[in-house]
Amino acid sequence: MSINDKTKWRENELSYEQVLDKYPDIPPIVALKIDVSRRGISYTDKAFAKVDPNVHHVEPYDYMIGHGQNVSPIGLFLRDGSVICQAHSKVYDWTYRDPYILDVVDDKLVIVDNDKVYEEAWFWEKPDFYDKFTSNGTPMRMVASARPQRITIAPATKCHFWDNPKEGCKYCALFSGHRAANDEGDIRDDKWFQDVEETVKEAIKQKGRYASYHMTAGSTLSGAEIFDDEVDLYINTLHAAEKAFKVKKFPVKLVASAFSKKQLRRMYEETAITTYTTDLEVLNKDLFGWVCPGKAKHVGYEEWKQRLYDAVEIFGRGNVDCGIVGGVEMAQPNGFTDEKEALKAVLSEAEEIASHGVSFAECVWNTLPGAIFMRQKTPSLEYYVQLALGLAEVRRKNGLNIYTDDYRRCGNHPNTDLARID
Ligand code: SF4
Repeated sequence: MSINDKTKWRENELSYEQVLDKYPDIPPIVALKIDVSRRGISYTDKAFAKVDPNVHHVEPYDYMIGHGQNVSPIGLFLRDGSVICQAHSKVYDWTYRDPYILDVVDDKLVIVDNDKVYEEAWFWEKPDFYDKFTSNGTPMRMVASARPQRITIAPATKCHFWDNPKEGCKYCALFSGHRAANDEGDIRDDKWFQDVEETVKEAIKQKGRYASYHMTAGSTLSGAEIFDDEVDLYINTLHAAEKAFKVKKFPVKLVASAFSKKQLRRMYEETAITTYTTDLEVLNKDLFGWVCPGKAKHVGYEEWKQRLYDAVEIFGRGNVDCGIVGGVEMAQPNGFTDEKEALKAVLSEAEEIASHGVSFAECVWNTLPGAIFMRQKTPSLEYYVQLALGLAEVRRKNGLNIYTDDYRRCGNHPNTDLARID
């Protein structure tokens, strides 16, 4: 297949409709969300004309992953309240599959593929705090971001696994703008913590919007023990946010590095958090070393797993999640070449890890500009659907919750979307 032919793949993969026929347990909206996440979605001019920056959540710069537009909404709603965390997708020479199209038909925003309308969609609404400023004069949109149902703070936008070139995770485009910057990272002084406190206080004035507070950052390796400085930063940021609440514990989704038992105890005892997520990313020891060389070098696959199990001792079964980048096990040249083999291996490892009380939060691997893997080919929709169904079954069989990573509080994981039909 020519690298410029974006439609040829359709001859070799089951279509969306064929996948629904073959896997009747997958809700059509979840399958569509997976496919849009996998292939991306390009906005037509008519769709862009529907964007109202006074009403919709747009980001004026390449926020988090870089969408290549000056201004774009960063996500869509579907009619059942599901979210698709996708900005406008640019099509590059190396883009393997043509993306879905976001168009306007009968004055409605709709998701289209091959001239067929699949679902109506809506842009996320702008958070009320977005146009406000802290008493320090900082725009609150620079302090926090939001999904429709959660507020997000990223205390550090530099991931220090990239300090040694190419040791970051190969699929990752997160904070890629800050990756090569010759600095220590963001300045998080008293002024910034005050900005956090004021922004969270302002955000929660919007009644009914937020079901959880989310925090994630690039990994910080420094400290007496690896990640000590990262732990301190999360604790201090949470203490600033906690001033907005009148209770000791509230729903916090923390996605962080793999902390030691001592660090996990500090997080649990000193802050509001009740759940913890740390990401093995790819459920295979050898592939982990290739895909996530920094994580493998500084912690290691077995130790990362052990730290997940240690976290279960502190947070309880089902309150610890392992993030994975579903599909990246098929990256080449070292990944699986057969989808059946890949699925069997991933689900078997997932079963072993879940038996220790760990749930999974699966993201759909897509090839983003800024990632080392940006020219790779991701697996078929059929593969992703089987993976989501398989991981949901692993969670059910092991009697595990999925709380802060579920559709209501996160909304970015096909396997946890399926928890709503348990
Ligand atoms: S740990 Fe890996 S996935 Fe997370 S920000 Fe760093 S490079 Fe990206």
